[in-house]
Amino acid sequence: MAIGVKVMKRPDRQVSYVRATLKGMALTFKHMLEKKVTMQYPEQKSTDQDHGMGAYSLSPRWRGTHRMLTDEQGRSKCVACGLCPQICPANCIKLVPGEDEQGNRYPLIYEIDEFRCIFCGYCQEVCPEEAIHVGVHFENSEYSRGRFVYDLERLSSQTHAVSTLWDPSDPEGE
Ligand code: SF4
Ligand code: SF4
Repeated sequence: MAIGVKVMKRPDRQVSYVRATLKGMALTFKHMLEKKVTMQYPEQKSTDQDHGMGAYSLSPRWRGTHRMLTDEQGRSKCVACGLCPQICPANCIKLVPGEDEQGNRYPLIYEIDEFRCIFCGYCQEVCPEEAIHVGVHFENSEYSRGRFVYDLERLSSQTHAVSTLWDPSDPEGE
């Protein structure tokens, strides 16, 4: 493909930049009078409704802080099958399985290092019990690295919504 070169002619007389400056200033002032789109986080949260800039919320497919679901008795739904630590590409799930007298498996230790996690959502996809989920949540800042390792109790006490993940049969999420 031929490449065209456009040669810009230099003005052959002195030009004033006042007009261009005024045009730029007019554009600036126009934007000053327009409706603000900046959200004053954290006073205004993404889940809050209209702040004069329209309602805004995280996508239901958002993959953030994990959550372990529990049964009616408040026990973790995890059966310690070992699939999630096996598939986790970041190797950030620690599982030590246990077994009760009836032969039911349960996690003696279940931990996720949220710092190492890449929030791919594979653990949620692979879980046969729909126990572990990535959540629609991102406000999990801490003062120490150790606090980012969520144990079973902490994972189970999370209350935020769980992610719906991306569904290939419904790419638009409708
Ligand atoms: S979201 Fe991905 S990286 Fe994070 S714990 Fe689950 S499988 Fe591992
Ligand atoms: S895949 Fe589900 S049931 Fe299996 S160990 Fe992970 S959380 Fe537990």
